[in-house]
Amino acid sequence: MARHRKIQGEEIARNLNRRQLIELEACARCGECTNWCPVYAQDKRECISARGKLAMLRSMLDGSLTAEERTEFLQGLYQCSACGQCHIVCPVRINTPELWEQARYALVSAGIPQPEGQVKQLTTIKGFNNSYGKPQEERGLWAKNAWDAGFLKSLVPLWSERPSSVLYFAGCTASFDPAMQFVAVQTARLLQEAGVEFSILGSDEPCCIGKLRRMGDPAFTEEAQNRARQFDNSGVRTIIVSCAGCYKGLHSDYHSLWPGAQKVLHVTQLYEQLLHDGLLRVQQEVPLVVTYHDPCHLGRHNRIYDPPRNVLQAVPALKLVEMARHRAFSACCGMGGGLKAANPELQHKVSASRIREAEATGAQAVVTPCQTCYLGLLHGVEETSSSLKVYHLNEMLIRSVCPEVSREAIDAAFSGDQVKLK
Ligand code: SF4
Ligand code: SF4
Repeated sequence: MARHRKIQGEEIARNLNRRQLIELEACARCGECTNWCPVYAQDKRECISARGKLAMLRSMLDGSLTAEERTEFLQGLYQCSACGQCHIVCPVRINTPELWEQARYALVSAGIPQPEGQVKQLTTIKGFNNSYGKPQEERGLWAKNAWDAGFLKSLVPLWSERPSSVLYFAGCTASFDPAMQFVAVQTARLLQEAGVEFSILGSDEPCCIGKLRRMGDPAFTEEAQNRARQFDNSGVRTIIVSCAGCYKGLHSDYHSLWPGAQKVLHVTQLYEQLLHDGLLRVQQEVPLVVTYHDPCHLGRHNRIYDPPRNVLQAVPALKLVEMARHRAFSACCGMGGGLKAANPELQHKVSASRIREAEATGAQAVVTPCQTCYLGLLHGVEETSSSLKVYHLNEMLIRSVCPEVSREAIDAAFSGDQVKLK
């Protein structure tokens, strides 16, 4: 048994790079990470903290981890939103989010699978090419429905019929969740208002598969290379995404595999430019006090802090107030890293804590530019019975540019669905 544990430990170590092996030893055991971890704040077990995970992974590699400790370690490794806060505050600057993902990959490769909820989600993504388990033929229907309902100035062309310089990659959530399709519709309308020529892939749009990387699935590299080839073959020059998870996927995860990852922009970066150039014109006042939630994948992981704030501040009469934790120290909503799939109750508690922080600002609403954070924050509102509103950033801009394309109008026209939390 001890010999088997040692061999398995060596196998796992082979899939960590040299820097990561050094980082394991470099931990100063100072515990600063425990003061900031949003999950540890809800479940104060050492295995949840970065310090605890690092200690247990060290023991796993040398074969000395007991069966009981191994169970705890696996809980700690997967009950982690990979938010990266521990990396920011760590005096040794251990790159924890990368280490957690690579450790998950190494464990899976050594025959130790992810928790059941994550396996289920990964199987759906690989089987259907989307995280909703729906036929790909339905992926582009939002655009046709939006045109039929009069929300768009023209029908958004399919890339296969009319390629253009810009590809709008709507992502699984805005494509398939009827209550989230407003994000895709509003993005398309705002781009049209600014005169941007763009196309969508429709049923050819793949899942970005960032979740495969988050959860350590060994199929990630090959699948990402397939998608990169698809983009290159279609001659795409710029890819716009409206989800922080898709940005992290296509821009950051593909970075080492595909030079084209540089072509990927989050839509808030484009909005900022269009506003600056006078192409997107804000007109109506939006008299609201809002606070901004930095998605981890956009903020801490990619340092996109200012563009969404500049967009909000361009909206007439809108007042932006900051939460105590913002920018690099922004507390996570708990939706990343497969935490929700592994332990939904824990995600709800993490999100509830973020909502309380947003309430403390006195704001009327919390705004985020990510579909996933939007849904995550709604769980927090439900958990705390808060009266705080949650908005996607698109909603603030659309109220000022073309208020007739409101989320409420789109929901009513599409299905009458309100967001249904799962
Ligand atoms: S990545 Fe975030 S959730 Fe995971 S251990 Fe670090 S601070 Fe905690
Ligand atoms: S902050 Fe960094 S060095 Fe300190 S205990 Fe956590 S991981 Fe180790």
